[in-house]
Amino acid sequence: MEWAMTICSWAGTSIALKQTRIDYHRVMRLLLVEDELEIQHFLETSLTEAGYEVDVAEDGKTAEIHASSRVYDALIVDLGLPDQDGIDLILRLRRLGVSSPVLILSARRSVDDRVAGLEQGGDDYLTKPFALAELLARLRNLLKRNAAAGTGPTSLQVGDLELDLLKRRASRSGELLNLSPQEFVLLEYLCRHAGRVVTRSMLLAEVWGMRIQPDTNVVDVHIYRLRGKVDTEGREPLIKTLRGVGYVLKG
Ligand code: CA
Repeated sequence: MEWAMTICSWAGTSIALKQTRIDYHRVMRLLLVEDELEIQHFLETSLTEAGYEVDVAEDGKTAEIHASSRVYDALIVDLGLPDQDGIDLILRLRRLGVSSPVLILSARRSVDDRVAGLEQGGDDYLTKPFALAELLARLRNLLKRNAAAGTGPTSLQVGDLELDLLKRRASRSGELLNLSPQEFVLLEYLCRHAGRVVTRSMLLAEVWGMRIQPDTNVVDVHIYRLRGKVDTEGREPLIKTLRGVGYVLKG
């Protein structure tokens, strides 16, 4: 799927280009560690529009809390953080067992700085100011390499519901659920947001790639079918409807 996306560098210039939507069959989750609000907001918006799910941390401490409680497909880390150096953060995360690829984003442009960043746990290095198209391309490469290496989360579990992300299979208490590929993606999105409210527009954007909310009941229809397969009789219902708001998967 392709759409025209307006991008601008964080410095403010704006250009329009065709951005190919990435189809990874599941939503990739990123942790963005950046304290400069203008860049942070720009990247959060742009990455979300590009189909990623983005968590944001403004300092090293928050980043550490996020990275130790959730598994990210990749991290984007600014080196000049208010409470610590980004390199120290990356080293600490590596010691804690966080193996997600890290794209360093920094104003430090010297060869020594870049080499130091790459030698101390960074997987790629991009200097500021940067072009969004380049950041997206580097990110895609990191994710592809990571997927090829077979790292990253391979399953998700919520209660007795388990999703095998590699085989694209879902089961409850070990009993296989007969889901279509689209239903699997929808359930995966709900699982990744377990315990949190997911609105129809979030699902349309993230699962169906629709950025504008058309007058459609596609979400409701799919949720209805999904519920028929996940919450069968005798099982604890997991998918709740919040009337007028959206859905929540019991976490
Ligand atoms: Ca900074």
